[in-house]
Amino acid sequence: MPEFKSVFYRQEVTFMILGGTCTRNCRFCAVDKAKGCVLPVDPSEADNVALAVKKLGLKYVVVTSVTRDDLIDGGAGQFARVINAVYGVNHLIKNRGFNTGFSG
Ligand code: SF4
Repeated sequence: MPEFKSVFYRQEVTFMILGGTCTRNCRFCAVDKAKGCVLPVDPSEADNVALAVKKLGLKYVVVTSVTRDDLIDGGAGQFARVINAVYGVNHLIKNRGFNTGFSG
């Protein structure tokens, strides 16, 4: 869910990709924990994020994710797909990706 004040006044949004369930269990964090079961990576996620960026007319995007220790690449490929898709709809956009350490 975008934070609407940021969307309208600063034209920025943070997207959390790779689902809403984390494979780690940091006690301070409110993100849902996997408890042995995570959903597969959504193949339409990159296109959907890019579509949202275009529709909202964003100028700055932050991409972050839950940790996906269940994936061989830790989700790095999905980060690349999302960021490439975002640049595909707006090559001037400022984009910052915050990865989760990719199994580190
Ligand atoms: S790795 Fe990140 S998203 Fe996962 S539980 Fe820890 S702080 Fe939350």
